[in-house]
Order: sequence, then structure tokens, then C-alpha cells
Amino acid sequence: MCKAESVMSRPYSGEVLCERCFKDSVTNAVRMAISKYNMLERTDRIAVGYSGGKDSTVLLAILVEIQQRFPESEVIAITLEEGNKQDLLRQEVLQRVTNTLKVEHVTASYQDMFSLTLDEIATRAQVLQSSLSPCAYCGTLRRQGLNQLARKIQADKLALGHNLDDEIQSMLMNLIRGDLPRLSRITPYLRGVSDWLIPRIKPLYHTLEADLALFANLLGYPIYHPPCPYKETSLRSEIREWLNAFEVKHPGSKYNLHATFTKIIEAIQQEEEVPYRKCQSCGEITSQQVCAVCLHKEALGFSSPK
Ligand code: SF4
Ligand SMILES: [Zn+2]
Ligand SMILES: [Zn+2]
Repeated sequence: MCKAESVMSRPYSGEVLCERCFKDSVTNAVRMAISKYNMLERTDRIAVGYSGGKDSTVLLAILVEIQQRFPESEVIAITLEEGNKQDLLRQEVLQRVTNTLKVEHVTASYQDMFSLTLDEIATRAQVLQSSLSPCAYCGTLRRQGLNQLARKIQADKLALGHNLDDEIQSMLMNLIRGDLPRLSRITPYLRGVSDWLIPRIKPLYHTLEADLALFANLLGYPIYHPPCPYKETSLRSEIREWLNAFEVKHPGSKYNLHATFTKIIEAIQQEEEVPYRKCQSCGEITSQQVCAVCLHKEALGFSSPK
């Protein structure tokens, strides 16, 4: 057993770990997720969604480390600027980290891709008293924008920094809303169904948010992810707080919930095949006739009905 000074303990497993053992345990969990779901090939060009927050910073650092053992593969950081006042400062910080990691960094903005900014969306949604939050619009744009950007740089995979906590929160939210189609789409590996949909992988699928926060701290890279002024504070935050409190009282609950949900989703997925096609309006990939981005733009008056 390791005798070095401990940096953390895990109540659910009784482990007390030093910095090195802790970092190894997190990196191993990422490697295991990659291997369990066959997320990567040796020659993959991997686009990593990099926002500057702790999760995507850790993901980028670990994938760069893994990539060094597979010289035929490549890691490229990609960032979407939403279009608010924090973007400029954020770009400086992100550039410093990608320079340190010697990783190519490609950015694009909502403005470039959709001819609007997050500030404009939020203002328009408020004026029109939309029933959707800015996060609902922003999330849709980000999903489609990252796919477009990954496709533009000819990536084979798009790696996202969703961690185990994020995933349980999404699972519970969809369960509470009774949205089975969305629940069934929460998966660690969304395989591409056409050249237009870059396969999406979540290597942090089995990693707790608290572990990523400590890992990011120990890495020492600058993290820049100021609270977004439009952040949705309702259901997700409530579930997050409840889950964290529950985990303190009943250590290991998050892992158990996550494992159970994963099995349920795998069972539902066999029954619910999602039909993908091209949006009649913009040509992007969608499961409907018109994609959610086009519907949102129309609803907010940024484009006229087709
Ligand atoms: S918190 Fe801000 S950046 Fe994040 S999804 Fe919501 S609106 Fe977009
Ligand atoms: Zn140790
Ligand atoms: Zn569209």
C-alpha cells in the first residue's frame, strides 16, 4: 500500500489516496470507459469540446496523455464562443493551456455559425416571454455547432466532458419530465449514423465531478469558466444539490444510480431506434423534419418560416 501523503479519501470505497495514486485512478477510469465502449481507434482524429471549465480541461489533458502512446492519432481542442462579454478573456486563458499542451485549438462562434449571439437569444426570449430558458436554446445550438465544427476539421470523434454527475442529473430530469426519447439518447457513445453526425464520446462517463475538480486543481492549469449570467437555476440545480446531499449520507449512491440508469437506457435503446435525416431547412442532421436550431431561430424571430 502506498505510504505517500494522502490528498483525498473516498467514503464509498474506503480508499485514501496520495496525489499520484489519485491521478492514476482518475486516468484509469477514463481509460476503462474508452475501452469498455470501444470509443477510440488508434488512428482517430479526436476533436475535444474545450470550454475552459474543469471537466473539459481535465479531459483534454488526459486525452493528450493517452494520445502520446498512439502517434497516429491526433487531439484537437475545439471551442464555441457563445457571444457574451466573457469570451475575450476566456480565449486568452484557453490559448495558454492549449499552447502548454501543444494542442491545435480551433474556435468558432454562434455568430459565425448561426448569425446570432447568446446575448441576443436571451434578450429575444425575454421580450417574447418564451417558455424555454436561454439554456434550452443555447444547448441546442452548442450540440449542433460542435458537430459542425468537428466535421469541418474532419474529426473522426467528438469527445465531450460530461461527467457521471452530469449524466445522472440529465437522466433524472428526463425521468421526471417523462421524456423517454431523450432519456434513451443519454449514452457514453453516440455512433455516427451518417458522415454528417460525428460520433460523440464521453470518456468521463464514469468519473465523479468531485474527482474532476480535485484533478483539475492538482493539474494547476488555469481554469476559466465564470458563471454564465443566463444559467438555468431550476430543476438541474435542485437535483444536483439533492444528489450531493444524498451521496454524503449514503456513499456510493451516485455510482449505483448511474449503473442502474445505464442498464435501463440500454434496454430502452433496443426498442427506440432514432431515425436521423437532414433538416429540410438548413441541411444539418436531425431526428425531425426541421432541426431544433431552425425551429428555435424561427420561434425567436431570427428567421422567417420556411
Ligand atoms: S449556462 Fe449559459 S452557456 Fe451554459 S447552456 Fe445555459 S445559457 Fe448556455
Ligand atoms: Zn499513493
Ligand atoms: Zn435546420
